[in-house]
Amino acid sequence: MDTITRKASKGHRLVLLPLPYQGHISPMLQLANILHSKDFSITILHTSFNSPNPNNYPHFMFLPIPDTGNEMHSLSDLKNILQLLNYINTELVDPIRACLERLMKEDERVVCLITDVHWFGTQSVADGLKLPRIVHRTSNISSFRSFVAPVLLRDKEIRSARGVNLLNKLNKITWQKSKGKKVVPITLKTMDKSEASASVSRLETFEVKDLPKFLPSDPEGKYKILEVMVKGTQEARAIIWNTFKELEEHELEALREDFPNPHFLIGPFHKFFPALSSSLRTQDQTSLSWLDKHPPKSVLYVSFGSLVRFEESQFLEIAWGLANSKQSFLWVVRPGSVEGSEWLEPLPDGFLERIVEGRGYIVKWAPQQDVLAHPATGAFWTHSGWNSTLESICEGVPMICSSSFGDQLLNARYVSDVWRIGVKLENGFERGEIENVIKKVMADEKGLEFKNNIINIKRKVNLCVKKGGSSYSSLEDLVNYILSF
Ligand code: UDP
Repeated sequence: MDTITRKASKGHRLVLLPLPYQGHISPMLQLANILHSKDFSITILHTSFNSPNPNNYPHFMFLPIPDTGNEMHSLSDLKNILQLLNYINTELVDPIRACLERLMKEDERVVCLITDVHWFGTQSVADGLKLPRIVHRTSNISSFRSFVAPVLLRDKEIRSARGVNLLNKLNKITWQKSKGKKVVPITLKTMDKSEASASVSRLETFEVKDLPKFLPSDPEGKYKILEVMVKGTQEARAIIWNTFKELEEHELEALREDFPNPHFLIGPFHKFFPALSSSLRTQDQTSLSWLDKHPPKSVLYVSFGSLVRFEESQFLEIAWGLANSKQSFLWVVRPGSVEGSEWLEPLPDGFLERIVEGRGYIVKWAPQQDVLAHPATGAFWTHSGWNSTLESICEGVPMICSSSFGDQLLNARYVSDVWRIGVKLENGFERGEIENVIKKVMADEKGLEFKNNIINIKRKVNLCVKKGGSSYSSLEDLVNYILSF
């Protein structure tokens, strides 16, 4: 049944605060566009590091958080993610409060702050200013459940005195430390296969190896960050998800036990506003003219997102796997993504012309949503970031998954084992396995099965964003909810 949506007057202003990474900025800007279309005025509060380009959004107000960006730049690689989260949630909290205070003085119709869940330090700011805070989680619900499992399960296991389960064994450093015993790091490498593949209590679909690992170098640090992130999310007024009910209804029900907040599943965001210019890099449009020359479903699109980095040996395994598969491919190689190289230097001489014989094309960054929508694209070899996974689902393109960290592990498992719309590379980057899997997905019966499954899901996506569909209705509910503050 359609809900009646109250209208925001032009004065109702929302302040949105993204985490400064490509995979977080894009969905937050898409969300901002969606809410702007519902007549809210929008302010994007942003760091000076990785700041979005205001010229692409003349209808928004941009407010930089005073900061040189230098500190964040030095913390921006993945090894420093914990320090980065610590930094932004401590050092930037006062500047954010000052920005919001000023804004609220100038414009008394600021009604809500919407932040990425990783800005957990802003909950106290919002409370102090009596400004409702809603969080946006850029991953899906399934991977969020795995992400928060170490905190929530450990609490429960302690209370129910059931002792240490396998998940806790993975994180035993923390346990032993807290009990004052000798510190013995237990990692996936030291677990045997059956332990790593065991299912985890209360998380029926997951295996121990899918769950987040605490860095042996700083297990307590990660645990504490997770703990405050969970608390900050539970204290927020509501959670907005870039996913849709038909895909994750079951996971949502399970999540409600620990997060009773209202949940708004209004994705896929980019179906409301396609191909927005939220890219922090220049997209090479020749990717599309190259695809134009190819028959339908004949090209494998290869891209590992904005953060993943490779050792030179892994990069060469990818190159040889692609070459040996004899399939056409469009490959995004981000400059600086191969350790010790600027761009393509490690490739063998004449790789594209002689070895691949013109079947391949390499770019630095592609217009990914357009590439996935192109008729020539037959499959997507991805790192399984949530935006990439969702974009592929929306275009009905089956996936080959090479996950490395964070939510990618869970996304890959769901793609291969739950939704059955692709296959997961099990042995990292190994040219023989890569060649076989590419052939299987591009040219085999199995590929056809994935294709059929993903087309079914694509149909549901198309319905959920239309009037009366689940995401459409949830968006109406969100607007009404914000206007009720
Ligand atoms: N992307 C793009 N061009 C590329 C590669 C990626 O525009 O060549 C975009 C892609 O469409 C997606 C985002 O970058 O929206 C990557 O987000 P994701 O969550 O998949 O991965 P992350 O970069 O956060 O690891």
